[in-house]
Amino acid sequence: MIGLLRSLQRAVAPKPLEPSRIQIGGDILDVVFRRHAQARRLVLRLSTSGTAVMVTVPKGVSRAKALEFTERSRSWIEQHVRSRGSSIHLRPGHAIPFRGLTHEIVHVDSRRGTVAADSERGVIHVPGDSAHVQRRLLDWLKASARADLARASDRYAKLMGVKFRRISIRDQRTRWGSCTAAGDLSYSWRLILTPDYVLDYVAAHEVAHLKHLDHSQRFWRLVLTHCPDAVRAKKWLKAHGHDVHRVVV
Ligand SMILES: [Zn+2]
Repeated sequence: MIGLLRSLQRAVAPKPLEPSRIQIGGDILDVVFRRHAQARRLVLRLSTSGTAVMVTVPKGVSRAKALEFTERSRSWIEQHVRSRGSSIHLRPGHAIPFRGLTHEIVHVDSRRGTVAADSERGVIHVPGDSAHVQRRLLDWLKASARADLARASDRYAKLMGVKFRRISIRDQRTRWGSCTAAGDLSYSWRLILTPDYVLDYVAAHEVAHLKHLDHSQRFWRLVLTHCPDAVRAKKWLKAHGHDVHRVVV
């Protein structure tokens, strides 16, 4: 979440290890190796998106050894890929989370009207040509994400006494948001799928970076002062974050 620090780290980091691939059932997963000077042993986890295996490699351990370790962990990977569940498509009949609540996608056979969520009934109505449901819905989800995130960022910027330059909405697979030293904020559109307090926390987190470009105690104190839900939101992201990546676009 700290662009500047990341690029500094990249500048001094040793040459990256070449990635690999592993076949699990019918899926081919990327295997990404990351050198970590402080790591004591090889550690393996599934990426947030569930499409890659991330392997932490301690100093002095070769790529071949790391690959061997990945092969040995095959049943663990298989089990975790399975528990992540199947893909969700932006098509009628599928249900997606929207602001943390399940909504069924319903196509409305009408040329007029806009996409609208009826959260009490748990449906999102998408009018227009049935061939364009996916694109219209995605555009609407991104616009909703932008509106909610702009509102939350504005609010926290005022509370924390900082200013940002611009907001962009992206499909970041590995990060929920980021902040540059120049004051540009960027967020994943998928935050509109999470509960309000989670989106709110990510905005508080990124805006707080405008004051502290690190994850120091001062940084966390600032976040927690203005966003007491931060702890709950972090827990939610850890437990359910991969679920919103099941939505395929
Ligand atoms: Zn951060």
